[in-house]
Amino acid sequence: MRIDIATLFPEMCEAVLSESILGRARGAGYIELYCHNIRDYSEDKHRRVDDTPFGGGMGMVMQADPIYCCWRDVCDILGKRPHTIYMSPQGRRFEQKMAREYAKRDGLFLLCGHYEGVDERVLEEIVDEELSIGDYVLTGGELPALVVADAVARMCDGVLASEECFVEESHYNGLLEYPQYTRPAVWHEKPVPEVLLNGHHAKIRQWRREQSLERTWRKRPDLLERAPLDESDRRYLLDLQKRTETEDF
Ligand code: SAM
Repeated sequence: MRIDIATLFPEMCEAVLSESILGRARGAGYIELYCHNIRDYSEDKHRRVDDTPFGGGMGMVMQADPIYCCWRDVCDILGKRPHTIYMSPQGRRFEQKMAREYAKRDGLFLLCGHYEGVDERVLEEIVDEELSIGDYVLTGGELPALVVADAVARMCDGVLASEECFVEESHYNGLLEYPQYTRPAVWHEKPVPEVLLNGHHAKIRQWRREQSLERTWRKRPDLLERAPLDESDRRYLLDLQKRTETEDF
């Protein structure tokens, strides 16, 4: 998997992509991550890449040509057109299941906007889809691109120690993850749940599933509408609901 990020701030992206799990996975060759400075493709002697908006108004707009030349350069390196995503507050909301789908691709090209945004004509020409990380506006597409790169990278083979690291995590299977504990076994007079200390794997699995269901029901009940639940999950949730109603009463 290869991810190319086109940005005006490559150092900002490199700083994040070189650290921790992604930095190690990159070093070990499990994932290729490249940051391209759009300014390198400016024809202007001051390396300008923005101009005022036609029709007037506040702010600056990123020009089409430096972005197009940067993208063309990556197409030439790859020998093909990459799946091209413009990070935008107007895009489809990014979710875990999309990270899993993107991780199956050979590569992604993530375009980061800045200022008031990007000249629409280059978006029409090169972009396959627009992605948003939430309904708010940030100063640039770098943080959103890093969010997407991180979420996609950890779904790629070899980046995490094994699939086990993420299959029970929040959102992977439509639920939130169960609570986690580590040493010491008692902290501030709070003991770790007994079931986790006895080494009985079937009981631990069942406890974790129930905790996962309960957490999702309490914190994000909306997720339960789409989560793949079996008969025993549904029974557990029904009991939980009844128990809570009695407690409330
Ligand atoms: N004028 C644009 C609008 O109202 O839709 C917003 C421009 S924003 C200040 C600058 C850049 O930040 C955008 O071009 C985009 O690349 C990025 N950006 C801002 N918020 C984002 C979000 N929620 N998700 C993804 N990208 C975002």
